[in-house]
Amino acid sequence: MSETTKSLLAGSTKEALLTFENVNVFFSKKKFFGPRSQIKAVDNVNLRIAKGEILGLVGESGSGKTTLGRTAIGLQRATSGKVIFSNGEISVDVSASKGKQWKELRKYLQIIFQDPFSSIDPNMRVFDTLRIPLRAQGVKDHNEIEERILRVFNEVGLPQDILNNYVFQLSGGQRQRVSIARVLLFNPSLVVADEAVSMLDVSLKGDILNIIKKISLNFGASFLFITHEMAVAKVIADRIAVMYLGNIVELGSSEEVISKPLHPYTQALLQASPSIDPSLKDVYRTINIKGEIPSSSAHPSGCKFHTRCPFVMEKCKTNVPELKHIEGSHYVSCWLY
Ligand code: SF4
Repeated sequence: MSETTKSLLAGSTKEALLTFENVNVFFSKKKFFGPRSQIKAVDNVNLRIAKGEILGLVGESGSGKTTLGRTAIGLQRATSGKVIFSNGEISVDVSASKGKQWKELRKYLQIIFQDPFSSIDPNMRVFDTLRIPLRAQGVKDHNEIEERILRVFNEVGLPQDILNNYVFQLSGGQRQRVSIARVLLFNPSLVVADEAVSMLDVSLKGDILNIIKKISLNFGASFLFITHEMAVAKVIADRIAVMYLGNIVELGSSEEVISKPLHPYTQALLQASPSIDPSLKDVYRTINIKGEIPSSSAHPSGCKFHTRCPFVMEKCKTNVPELKHIEGSHYVSCWLY
């Protein structure tokens, strides 16, 4: 195991629930004219999610965070590398699991999608939305089904009288609560929340974030919380990983990343975030990053951020900076450090 890998895996001192080891996820894409190109959605990621922690994964659209989230729970296979899940009951490489084992993993690894309007069938009754996955996992006893549904309904603060309603009759906030309730039915060890609050109004966002925090505490579940909003990560996450073009470029406790951002990309994200504590705005340097995130099929050489970075140096264009330990649980990949 390389020094970089060891360094990255040391990103949390708590016991690991899920460990990405040298994970690559590449896709092949056919251009309209011309040959196939390779998209590097996730590029040699080493990262650990601890038991019971909420890890915020932040980056722009196209940074690879959704692909990494899907890889965490086996919805996407890694092209190479390992995704080790170990919760005390089973220890398995998620990316190599199949058949019965893959089905078994569904109980432990769950996902909340961004869009509560398309992730659950609007023409189904709420009760059936929750009953069907339980039956699919072999729970047949009607009393047990009812008991488990009422318990998760209580956890997410939904009134029992909507169990008979159709999903299309629910508000956006209620639908997202039903999505969360469905995930909780199995007491999951790890939940990937993929932009789970980005489609909700500000008032509902706070409610859902509070529910997720409560669940993490009450159920001991870990969360990989994917968001493009630094302000949301600040509220919800114990640690934050910042992703750019398939790589983790900064990692640390929420406090470290928000109060002492090191990578110019993190600084730019924070500066652009409208809801970060105004008293912290002075801490952030004025960073104007150029242009848009480059295509995932044409990663720049050296530091992938060099085409947009205002502090670019000659060596940034050719040499890849490693994710370096700075202090505490803070890591950064930048030649400035
Ligand atoms: Fe900018 Fe260079 Fe640091 Fe990359 S390595 S973020 S180009 S200063």
